[in-house]
Amino acid sequence: MGTPINFTPEQLTLKAREILREKYVQAEVGVTGANFIISDIGGIAVTENEGNARLSCSFPKTHIVVVGIEKMIPSVTDLHLFWPLLSTFGTGQKITVYNTIVTGPRQENEVDGPEEMYVILLDNGRTNILQNPKQRESLYCIRCGACLNACPIYKNIGGHAYGATYSGPIGSVITPNMQGMEAFKHLSFASSLCGNCTEVCAVKINLHELLLENRKESVDEGLTTFSERMAWKMWKIASLKRSMMNMGSGNLKNKVVNGLFKDWKEKRSDLNFSPKTFNQMWKERHKY
Ligand code: SF4
Repeated sequence: MGTPINFTPEQLTLKAREILREKYVQAEVGVTGANFIISDIGGIAVTENEGNARLSCSFPKTHIVVVGIEKMIPSVTDLHLFWPLLSTFGTGQKITVYNTIVTGPRQENEVDGPEEMYVILLDNGRTNILQNPKQRESLYCIRCGACLNACPIYKNIGGHAYGATYSGPIGSVITPNMQGMEAFKHLSFASSLCGNCTEVCAVKINLHELLLENRKESVDEGLTTFSERMAWKMWKIASLKRSMMNMGSGNLKNKVVNGLFKDWKEKRSDLNFSPKTFNQMWKERHKY
């Protein structure tokens, strides 16, 4: 943009505003999402800190809203709860900077606003989630982002690594159900299941349990390889039999297991068994 190298953040912001404001004024169409669809007044509510969505709603001739159907709330009075919930869990603000309610295009007696307004209600797999009694609660999400900020995985790898629109814990829960279990089941497996996401969730979604549920459903749907199924079968037989668990040294187990699970180990370090089993150590300590 040709700004001097020593511009302060404030000066850069003013420059961006100068350039972008003109684009908003000239745009034919403005596209926004919506944080809520308000049933009783037939409107949409948009929450933002920058003001760009409000400009998109009001300057161009046509305003198009693309919004997920789960964003529906019964009444405008429910915003009394949802607006502070969104801001405190999202950024720690008491209330977000810009909160806008739009109920239609410009009326005859009004000077501002678009000539036309369209609201596109987006399903895109959401009714699949609604049909699943266990996964249904994931539709409560208000996209505050608290679970993302709390997640040790997200904090280390960032949002782009998820390869989907929604990232973090809630993304790992809903993406396999919206875009296909086979293609996205790996997101639910890439979790330490620490439960931090569940603890911070604004609407108390049991996120880590839903990650487990996704794993179960993917296995029930047969989305596992033959070698993986065999490996777990052998693991189950061995771990249910004490004599088999105690069989062989730690070294031998390391060799056998790390040799067998080559695929599993591709992106993981070697499993490292203790030289003695817990059972053997317990017996040694309680000899007398
Ligand atoms: S799952 Fe909960 S914490 Fe995560 S974005 Fe949705 S409401 Fe916020």
